Amino acid sequence: MKKYDIAVIGSGPGGYVAAIRAAQLGFKTALIEKYNTLGGTCLNVGCIPSKALLDSSHHYDDTVKHLDAHGITISGEISFSLEKMIARKNEVVAQTCAGVQFLMDKNKVDVLKGVGSFLSKNEIQVTPNEGAAETIEATYTIIATGSKPASLPFITIDKERIITSTEALGLKEVPQHLIVIGGGVIGLELGQVYQRLGAKVSVVEYTDSIIPTMDRGLGRELTKVLKKQGFGFYTGHQVKEVTREGDTVIVKATTPKGEELSLEGDYCLVAVGRRPYTEGLNLGAAGVTTDERGRVIVNDHLQTSVGNIYAIGDVVRGAMLAHKAEEEGVLVVEQLAGQKPHIDYNCIPGVVYTTPEVASVGKSEEQLKAEGVSYKVGQFAFRALGRARASMETDGFVKILADTKTDEVLGVHIIGARAADIIAEAVTAMEFRASAEDIARICHAHPTFTEAVKEAALAATENRAIHA
Ligand SMILES: Cc1cc2nc3c(=O)[nH]c(=O)nc-3n(C[C@H](O)[C@H](O)[C@H](O)COP(=O)(O)OP(=O)(O)OC[C@H]3O[C@@H](n4cnc5c(N)ncnc54)[C@H](O)[C@@H]3O)c2cc1C
Repeated sequence: MKKYDIAVIGSGPGGYVAAIRAAQLGFKTALIEKYNTLGGTCLNVGCIPSKALLDSSHHYDDTVKHLDAHGITISGEISFSLEKMIARKNEVVAQTCAGVQFLMDKNKVDVLKGVGSFLSKNEIQVTPNEGAAETIEATYTIIATGSKPASLPFITIDKERIITSTEALGLKEVPQHLIVIGGGVIGLELGQVYQRLGAKVSVVEYTDSIIPTMDRGLGRELTKVLKKQGFGFYTGHQVKEVTREGDTVIVKATTPKGEELSLEGDYCLVAVGRRPYTEGLNLGAAGVTTDERGRVIVNDHLQTSVGNIYAIGDVVRGAMLAHKAEEEGVLVVEQLAGQKPHIDYNCIPGVVYTTPEVASVGKSEEQLKAEGVSYKVGQFAFRALGRARASMETDGFVKILADTKTDEVLGVHIIGARAADIIAEAVTAMEFRASAEDIARICHAHPTFTEAVKEAALAATENRAIHA
């Protein structure tokens, strides 16, 4: 029987990063993956393919709607091939997944292809699609089996017209009318891909706002901008029934006034979140416990109910984000090497890659109010920035929330061009527990979108924004 110091089950961003760090620290490491390609949800059917399609559709949309304003004329009809867009996306995915395999080889991590299931707390059986199962022994195991799309109990996902994000990443035609159930990040991103390519998109959301887990100011602004782009929103609507008649999908929901809304479309994307995935792991044989939502229970060290078994990423509590999974993978392995790593979960940014982008870190106004924290707000609109006007990307703002007494930055919420990249400055500032004045006194290159961060910090510091 092969013996390993660390076995990692699942090769998503949590698992494969943990495996690399383990190898760097000298552990004999195995990475077990049941799919043919490495990289998990993120690389295969998540972050990377969705961003590839967002980028392609953005180029098309820009060409059709915005080049003229820049004085660029394209003669002849502007068209696109969805087939080619999907093929490019598949190529990006294939290259990225192959890159992970390369990194495994380079770091001498043994990749074992097959379903990993516990036989005991130290033995794992790996069952490949074809061929015989093998059993390995591991001193420590890291469960990184991720998540799968969630649904509602009364919805049957037929994968043809009633679909999840996985199918939405590979449609053969642009929907005429795409009904998206769920106004969270995945629904909005994929909705925007097809809206840009000509689909009518209607988003039905149960709560009273889209991206409801982020600062409410962001949801309000995003609603405004996406409505201008043509999105239809039905917030505060509870979906009751999703049925299919031929090529038509009928979604019935209860409106906030208690009336019935009926929408007809040709596709319905169910984007109501994701659920932790532990099927096939045979957790019982090891004694690992899960909570009422199916998440593997872990303590602050990400240790499960069994001392030598850890769990990370989407399969445990916390935000379902690739970078959160990566940090947790590194944390577990460094602990096992005797180091004292730390994750500040308050400093994990969340991003929505729509146009405009949305990015957030730290506490929202709603959270600070609920916690009774006294805070001040510094907000600066992109339209007042030279750089934003030069590129005609003037939607949105940067909002900085700082402690009234100490001036410490407690949250940064951005909506606008390049928010996904700009948020890194806010994360750094918060990791170093910067004050708003610290940011305000840092020189930001001109003209850049990042100047809005400095201006918002100035606004939070005695209302001193220069260009407001
Ligand atoms: C459409 C979409 C877009 C997204 N965009 C973003 C984004 O822009 N940014 C972001 O941060 N996050 C994004 N996410 C979320 C992100 O993909 C996840 O948070 C991340 O992949 C979680 O990583 P993980 O390592 O925990 O698990 P996963 O990536 O889910 O990987 C788990 C792996 O474990 C394997 N596995 C499961 N059980 C077994 C078993 N018993 N034996 C062997 N292998 C097993 C699975 O096959 C899978 O490969 C997106 C998700 C979706 C669906």
